[in-house]
Amino acid sequence: MDSILYLLAILVCIISMIIQFWLKSTVKKWSKVDSGTEYDANAAVAQMFRENDILDVKIAHQDGELTDCYSPKERTIFLSNTSYNKNSVAAIAVAAHECGHAIQDSKQTAIYQLRQALTVPASFCSRFGMILAIGGFLLGSAAQSGSNLWFQVAKIGVVMYFVVFLFYLAMVPVEVDASRRGLEAIKKNGFISADKIKGARKVLTAAGSTYVISMTSAFITFLRIFMLVNRGRSRRR
Ligand SMILES: [Zn+2]
Repeated sequence: MDSILYLLAILVCIISMIIQFWLKSTVKKWSKVDSGTEYDANAAVAQMFRENDILDVKIAHQDGELTDCYSPKERTIFLSNTSYNKNSVAAIAVAAHECGHAIQDSKQTAIYQLRQALTVPASFCSRFGMILAIGGFLLGSAAQSGSNLWFQVAKIGVVMYFVVFLFYLAMVPVEVDASRRGLEAIKKNGFISADKIKGARKVLTAAGSTYVISMTSAFITFLRIFMLVNRGRSRRR
């Protein structure tokens, strides 16, 4: 089982690199294709704001590529160099997706709220969960006494890493829903000419796949430390 998980972890790592390459090349390709309409990314976002009665979210420029994001704290959609004021298919697709997050936030959808609620605990747990699990396992294995206190610490680390996995798991439906909202708005408002909508779908599918692979990777990591700690504990008995 250990070697299977090890091989799976390597496989997921390779797939992750392939997906990153696929995402970059898809965005590059569709960044060169203009939308074929009078809309650019900023105008598309503004239209989506009007449609959804969103009055308090700003659009700002963020340096870099693929750095587009929605910040619920700042109530701002940040668009990268390849999106801000750009009228390419990729720019509008990415901007409409980010606007999808702003809509989820303003409508307070359950899955978005769950993901938001998990953000701080998951960041804390990803920092300390692995240290407690591995550290507890190593100290528990080295300890001469019959006490399995260190394995209890390791167990806490495993539970903490499970919270990290839950965060990545919640990301997937949130991302799928934001892309669905973005694509719907693109079609409904004609942000992109009909013959080029397939490009928007490709960009969003590639971006969405990165979240699926992150979730898979977190699950395999969780399984690996779970099995490691569990085996350590049973060996002590
Ligand atoms: Zn997103």
